[in-house]
Amino acid sequence: MAIEAPDIRTALPGKIARQVIAKDRRYTSSSYIKEYPFVIARGKGAVVEDVDGNRFLDFMAGIAVNATGHSHPRVVRAVKRQAERFFHMCASDFYYESFARLAERLTRMTPMEGEKSVFFTNSGAEAVETAIKLVRYHTKRPYIIAFLGSFHGRTMGALSLTASKAKQRSFFSSFLPGVHHIPYGYCYRCPYNLTYPKCGVHCAEALETVVCRNLMNPREIGAIFIEPVQGEGGYIVPPREFHAKLKAFAEKNGILYVVDEVQAGMGRTGKFLSVEHFGVEPDVVIMAKGLASGLPLGAVVAKKKYMTWKAGTHGSTFGGNPLACEASLETLALLEEGLTANAARMGKRLIGRIRKMAKEFPLIGDIRGLGLMIGVELVRDRETREPAVKEAHDVVQAAFERGLLILSCGESTVRFCPPLVVNAREVDTAAEIFGAVLRDITGRKG
Ligand code: PMP
Repeated sequence: MAIEAPDIRTALPGKIARQVIAKDRRYTSSSYIKEYPFVIARGKGAVVEDVDGNRFLDFMAGIAVNATGHSHPRVVRAVKRQAERFFHMCASDFYYESFARLAERLTRMTPMEGEKSVFFTNSGAEAVETAIKLVRYHTKRPYIIAFLGSFHGRTMGALSLTASKAKQRSFFSSFLPGVHHIPYGYCYRCPYNLTYPKCGVHCAEALETVVCRNLMNPREIGAIFIEPVQGEGGYIVPPREFHAKLKAFAEKNGILYVVDEVQAGMGRTGKFLSVEHFGVEPDVVIMAKGLASGLPLGAVVAKKKYMTWKAGTHGSTFGGNPLACEASLETLALLEEGLTANAARMGKRLIGRIRKMAKEFPLIGDIRGLGLMIGVELVRDRETREPAVKEAHDVVQAAFERGLLILSCGESTVRFCPPLVVNAREVDTAAEIFGAVLRDITGRKG
């Protein structure tokens, strides 16, 4: 397959895509969103081809998953080799070498002092469930702090922490008791209407000065669950002191600092974990998405002193599946050999290109991000900051028509989260298409 993209040859969706979509609509759950009618046939690196032979630049990576790009030859080889040997043996009850080796590697790559232990799952939500149970088991404390705008998954425990879109929670109550949501460090739309840095990062202090004065004893809080960079909520990078203050409060009160790195981790931000940008040490790290380049795998890495649960208290039939473990070992090697560094470099290039566009397009309200986790928040008016919800939707659709796959997040943010293998040419092409799309949407001449 040639890797030149984009190359759109048919009306979208094409003839074969329409057939797949018709069948999908008829037989699959109505809860699926289906952002646009893209029907993948194959992919290579950051390029994907649909069933009608149209080629697209993939700047969303199946929602920030394909860290090493589509079907990286080394990952493919590792999975094939494992498939010839065995598919499954349930590591909750038995042993295989890759499971232990991957756990060892993850303990080496996570930024906590001392000994650590790992529990493997099949998804992000399942890893969040694991962390919730671990925190409850270890601390015996009833409360958990989470954040408005956060996304932690759709299973009932994880959903109890999720506070991204009301639609995701509607009619699913009751939720886990004891979960309390506080505002995130979202400076562009400060929940307290303050301005950074004059604000003194009040949003972080409010946990101590408001929540723990009026609502709960900090000694009853088991954990703070936090995305170091908020993902689904809008690709929001909080100020450095936000984490520093929350972590200091947690430490003072014996509260575990649990970082959900499902979207921001695995090299995407230019460091292995996004929390490393903020200089705080987590107690528990939750990973999934990019961890195995697209095979289902999640992991919870905790300081050993907190992973105190007894044999049989938690387990999983498929978690840490051997195919996924092999894919993950190869993924982590590729990240260390250069992909994480590439994410930092290419991220800088992409955000630089987008920043240059801001002058031309008043629709761009805020540009933020770390590495290849970049959000462009669109507004109707730069003064009022009214979210340009429809425009964000239209941008994503128009980009698809022009052969660039992107997604939105938050209320009106366009996100860029390509595979970490993207090169300068692909970044420049994506930026050019984004500019052309903004011109289309705003009716400006190119
Ligand atoms: N945590 C975060 C930060 C996420 O972005 C997501 C998925 N978007 C999840 C958890 C849930 O992961 P999964 O869909 O694999 O259950």
